[in-house]
Amino acid sequence: MNRFIYFVFILFLISSCGGVSTKNSSSINKSEPLVTFVFDDGNETDYTVAKNIFSAQGEVACSAVTTNWINGKGYLTVPQLMELQNAGWEILSHTESHPNLKTLSESQVEAELSKSKSTLESMGLIVKNLVYPYNKTNGAVKKIAEKYYRSGRDGGSMLNLYILDRYELKSYSIKHNLSKMKSYIDNAHSEKKWLIFYHHRIDAKIKISDKNGNFMLGENLFFQPSGAKGKYTAKGIVFLGPAIYFIPLSGIPKANDIVTGQTSGATCRLDRVIYNKKEDINDMIEYIHTKYPDIKIVTIDKGLDLMGIP
Ligand SMILES: [Zn+2]
Repeated sequence: MNRFIYFVFILFLISSCGGVSTKNSSSINKSEPLVTFVFDDGNETDYTVAKNIFSAQGEVACSAVTTNWINGKGYLTVPQLMELQNAGWEILSHTESHPNLKTLSESQVEAELSKSKSTLESMGLIVKNLVYPYNKTNGAVKKIAEKYYRSGRDGGSMLNLYILDRYELKSYSIKHNLSKMKSYIDNAHSEKKWLIFYHHRIDAKIKISDKNGNFMLGENLFFQPSGAKGKYTAKGIVFLGPAIYFIPLSGIPKANDIVTGQTSGATCRLDRVIYNKKEDINDMIEYIHTKYPDIKIVTIDKGLDLMGIP
């Protein structure tokens, strides 16, 4: 049995050394380190938080929009989408209603992929690329995607090779682990590959104590003495106590800050920052700029151009 496995392994080595590739070899161009940030679903924090982070560092990102959610509570409006595009962001389709495309009939997939594109285009937006909801796709979905889009992105937690399937661009989710995110950037640089990160709403979570009163959904939060500001979204829980979630708007909330709700007047003490995605994303861009000035931060469409993909 072991001998058989060895035999198969040798066969594999011979075939891979022969330079035989079943992938589209016309897409081979060059390999260079690229990083792309995509924000899925069309959350309003693409505009209220991410746009500022990226423009302050002279960079742009991508917003993948589910068209049925536009103008909904917590989601982007049409003028915000326009402003993102005017600032150099790429707007991608993330379907019409965010289904698992693998579970739909061909005509349903066709409708999701075509209508989302035409809806965005009717708003004056340029839409060339697609993000599959839940990162789920298959051969049938990819075939329909080819009719309307230049590429499609799924997950996979892999870097993209210079020989790639443009209807299966691989990406990493931005997790609450900054050092791990930086190690992916290190790999993209050393292997000269395209790293695509995806994220959703940009929020922060803090452990709190000494709470007085109840914060109100959507109210502004003031942090003193740090001077930071945020927007309250939900209460939460962490190991050994209560927590709150909020959208970080400006400044950096610090331990021992007193948090005050503008409308409710409720207060609490900030014990520990569990995570602050605004600061993490800011750190990731700074890390690229200071450690790897040769890495280009690009939109999906620009990345495809640089990879020499039609
Ligand atoms: Zn999504």
